[in-house]
Amino acid sequence: MALAEGFEFITSQSNKQRLKVRCRSEDCQWSLRSRNVKDSDAFYVTSFNDVHTCSKTSFHPHHRNANRKVVSHCINDLVKDNSRNIKGKDIVNILNERFMAHFSYKQAWAKKVYAETLLVCTSDESFGRLPIYCHNLEIANPGTRTPILRDGSNLFEMSFVAIGAAIRSFVRCLRPMIIIDGAHLKGSFKGTMFPAVGMDGNHKIFAIAFSVGKSDSGESWAWFLSKLRECVGDHPKTNLVRHNAGISPCVSRFLL
Ligand SMILES: [Zn+2]
Repeated sequence: MALAEGFEFITSQSNKQRLKVRCRSEDCQWSLRSRNVKDSDAFYVTSFNDVHTCSKTSFHPHHRNANRKVVSHCINDLVKDNSRNIKGKDIVNILNERFMAHFSYKQAWAKKVYAETLLVCTSDESFGRLPIYCHNLEIANPGTRTPILRDGSNLFEMSFVAIGAAIRSFVRCLRPMIIIDGAHLKGSFKGTMFPAVGMDGNHKIFAIAFSVGKSDSGESWAWFLSKLRECVGDHPKTNLVRHNAGISPCVSRFLL
């Protein structure tokens, strides 16, 4: 309410039994009092004066009540929507349109990340869940391959995903050609994504497999391509083509 109507409130009393808040303007009568319901976490409102005697026109560029928990809750619908790829600028515009406050790019992005964390989990936790996810992916999709490469300390090095139906589609129906490239990832962990795509008879791109690794090194390419070969097998007419000419010596040897 405070964000939507453009006023700030301050908490005058907050404990396990009572919560009292009032408008930040000194002379304003707006206030709300609530009391704890016995033996529960719930509170009920005992008095509520919803009339501001202040002008309520002052603009709050850094709204004190717009903390990340409140804002994350308000943008839950946006973050849940998988059909939209929301960028940092979009979040700033949406927040500033929805609320009578002004958020900087950094503030808006932090709130979006927090909302995503509440909805799913942190990036760290996601890595921990990767083996279970891959296991279930193989069970749900016959023929799927999801090996994970770990280093000497049993920490994540690379992962590979090829869905069974995609492998079969390539082997049976697609042109005998695989196009590969590396894409550098953003986010807290960086790394490189290695996609492998094929092309159908209508010149349409078809995703066959992908890998995510810590670096764009020759060893990473070699591991990715070895897993890809295990999936699609040797094909006398298949050409491996990379968009840019910067194929490392290690990969060149592998292709030979
Ligand atoms: Zn007021």
